Amino acid sequence: MNLNKKTVKDIELQGKKVVMRVDFNVPLKDGKVADDTRIRAALPTIKYILENGASLTLLTHLGRPKGERKPEFSVKPAADYLAELLGKEVKFADDCVGEAVVAEAKALKPGEIMCCENTRYHKEEDMKPKGDADKEAAQKAFAAELAKLGDVYVNDAFGTAHRAHASTAIITEFMPKENCVAGFLLDKEIKYLGQAVSNPERPFVAIIGGAKVSGKLEVMVSLMEKVDTILIGGGMAYTFYKAMGKQIGNSLCENDLVDTAKKIMAKAEAKGVNFMLPTDNLEADAFSNDATIKEVGMDIDEGFLALDIGPKTAEAYAEEVLKAKTVVWNGPMGCFEMPNFAKGTMTVCQAVADSDSVSIIGGGDSVAAVNQSGLAGKMSHISTGGGASLEFLEGKALPGVCALADA
Ligand code: AMP
Repeated sequence: MNLNKKTVKDIELQGKKVVMRVDFNVPLKDGKVADDTRIRAALPTIKYILENGASLTLLTHLGRPKGERKPEFSVKPAADYLAELLGKEVKFADDCVGEAVVAEAKALKPGEIMCCENTRYHKEEDMKPKGDADKEAAQKAFAAELAKLGDVYVNDAFGTAHRAHASTAIITEFMPKENCVAGFLLDKEIKYLGQAVSNPERPFVAIIGGAKVSGKLEVMVSLMEKVDTILIGGGMAYTFYKAMGKQIGNSLCENDLVDTAKKIMAKAEAKGVNFMLPTDNLEADAFSNDATIKEVGMDIDEGFLALDIGPKTAEAYAEEVLKAKTVVWNGPMGCFEMPNFAKGTMTVCQAVADSDSVSIIGGGDSVAAVNQSGLAGKMSHISTGGGASLEFLEGKALPGVCALADA
């Protein structure tokens, strides 16, 4: 995948009608935006386009309405919120295709902005044709309708760049290729992640945690080819423990992956990768912040479950991180949502913040943990796309990126 893509800076915007895919898939509470991170993340590109003489039509999905108009998934609250942030009117079109919305988009004057209703109100947006010619034709026809909204296409939605959806990739088939470019957010994501994958400064340390091995298997295998050290934490550690013949009590374990865990450890050894597992743990007699907690080594007691890495492990992991020049972190070290099991994650987080490394945080829960720590400002790059950043690190080509013009 060529990562050197044209950006909004590489095209003439004056007098152009820009249609831009953003990721306004924000959580709503009582009809209001509950977390504005994704809207703020798109602001630099939005402002740049408007200030450079173009008009702008925004496309986004929100939630999973599954092809139906469901008011609880309306994008209107996000559009209203954007208007507040910009301090200017954001027109709202109650659909993203059709004559009326195309006419509204064409009538926009330079510097004016409109946001369209949820692209996923149409099932064609995220259809997976899988070789079905009728479905493929329907999706292409829908993408062609979206393309009528502008003459320049900008993609700034990294969170959906790993999906070949109508508004994230297929739309570019109906626009001049040289007019399909990256926004600043997408460009920053591919630059940081791209550098980690192709040209990392060493030592390169990957911190992999979270609930399950299954969700991170491919990324672990792919990173094995690139990193010097892998630090394992979170619930996934205990499937590895099982593979080593340890007692794991009631800790999380994916029995069907015990053999795979053995193979991963063998591969790490063969490759000379420093593959580290927790050497101590916090075990609890219930999945609760108020449980009875004990500090134990690599065997978890009967009737207990491990919910965090222990202090010795946290220190050892912090030491590795402090030596690193590149850090990729995906998944917490324990159940950090419960204060009594947050220490391992927070110690590692502090080390990433203190280290002199290029640090890339990906995945919803690690981002939440970093935000909770108050150290977000000290990370080099916090990815806005959990699934997309994982697929990128797995070495997969992202359709939303491939669809853009090369620089
Ligand atoms: P993931 O989405 O796979 O990154 O998993 C994140 C979730 O894993 C968080 O909600 C954590 O609370 C949970 N988690 C982390 N460590 C453990 C553990 N030892 N046991 C159970 N759940 C865990």
